[in-house]
Amino acid sequence: MGRIGKIALTGLLAGSALLSVPATAKTVALSHFTLIDGTGRAPVKDSALIIRDGRIAWVGPAARLKTPKGVKVRNLAGKFVMPGLIDSHVHLGLVDGITQDLKYYTRENVERQLHLYAAYGITSVQVLGTDKDEIHDIVKDIRADPAGRARVWTAGRGVVFKGSYGGVAGLDAEVATPAEARAMVDREAAKGADFIKLWVDDEFGSLPERMPPAISAAVIDEAHKQGKQAIAHVFYLDNARELTREGVNGLGHEVRDAPMDAKLLAEMKAKHVWQVAATLSREASFTYDLLPFVDDPFFSRGVTPETIAQLKDPARRKRLTSGPNFPKYPGVLKMAMENFAREAKAGIPYGMGTDSGPSARFPGYFAHWELELMVKAGITPLQALTAATSGNARFMGATNIGTVQASKAADLLVLDKDPTRDIRNTRSIAMVFLNGEAVPTIWQTCTGRPADACRAAAR
Ligand SMILES: [Zn+2]
Repeated sequence: MGRIGKIALTGLLAGSALLSVPATAKTVALSHFTLIDGTGRAPVKDSALIIRDGRIAWVGPAARLKTPKGVKVRNLAGKFVMPGLIDSHVHLGLVDGITQDLKYYTRENVERQLHLYAAYGITSVQVLGTDKDEIHDIVKDIRADPAGRARVWTAGRGVVFKGSYGGVAGLDAEVATPAEARAMVDREAAKGADFIKLWVDDEFGSLPERMPPAISAAVIDEAHKQGKQAIAHVFYLDNARELTREGVNGLGHEVRDAPMDAKLLAEMKAKHVWQVAATLSREASFTYDLLPFVDDPFFSRGVTPETIAQLKDPARRKRLTSGPNFPKYPGVLKMAMENFAREAKAGIPYGMGTDSGPSARFPGYFAHWELELMVKAGITPLQALTAATSGNARFMGATNIGTVQASKAADLLVLDKDPTRDIRNTRSIAMVFLNGEAVPTIWQTCTGRPADACRAAAR
């Protein structure tokens, strides 16, 4: 945290009404928990850690904890401490309830969603290409002090081929030529984009053309010239192959039309192409006319009663089941899960991401569902947790998050039950620390109702 915190603490500015002691300039000690440190190593029983000024100052065996003077140690016996989760594929500020419109992209709405992510233990998100320019001020603000908001990495506006798939209505992001594509990449990099996003798809053949290779190659090349990684939305196997050839750094979804073959997997591995996000929860959500968890308190606490009523509306359900692509999704989900398993087996590096944020793909809840589906696809719970923490941080180049190690940001998830035994135990959230601050958890949240209205539906 730095100077202001230290000065205030040493009392040099005592009496100043303007400079209160920043909340992060606090020391917290936790002990006797089982540590899941995010690196992928096995859980370590009877661990302890010290948080100072928003960072992890020390972590080790509880027996070696040297309690700082005047600090009360919080006994977390029986609990599990892991790094805050990172969702590598989200979109912010697009909806009010389940109504999607870019007019809802306001600082207030974006920040409300970032608080909700934090409540679910998602302490960082990576936004894939649908941000308004306001995001850069919000990011700057959060980097100075999260104040309960999940940390944000952003692509700014992603690159859409004119008339093709991608982006959101109303956000000008379309290009028609390689020169326009390069200019757009330069513009987004100059605004402060952390990476570059592009879309290559045609919505089950319903759109006239996918982004052609001449454009995607220009986007990727220009991103690299700007020192940025390029993440592509893909659906088709042939596009994944072409993008890999062009040097793409990551895929934002699974290949969902055909099985990934050994040749592609080998080339991805050789070029270190990441499966940034499998978005299995996205594909799974499209297979339902009514999400199966609408009355699960872990979900319903995060949304208003109006949203639940809208999800249950028979007219909406009928509209979904009669959509032309509805019958395709069980197969799409199955293909996505099988391809994810193939990649994991082949040693392709992967993160955890949901594509939540568009209508009816809910911030926070979907990350826990995603972890469950990744395990269902064939990896271990520990592998899923590692992907969602140090894996994502490594891809993002975010050196301050993703593991519970000395000097890292104190972004922590405290759980009542062991998530390495059952991945669904990531929902047993006891506490969330963001930058060393305890923030309200989803179990202390009751969206759109008086606080006591959710009490009946407790854990
Ligand atoms: Zn997306």
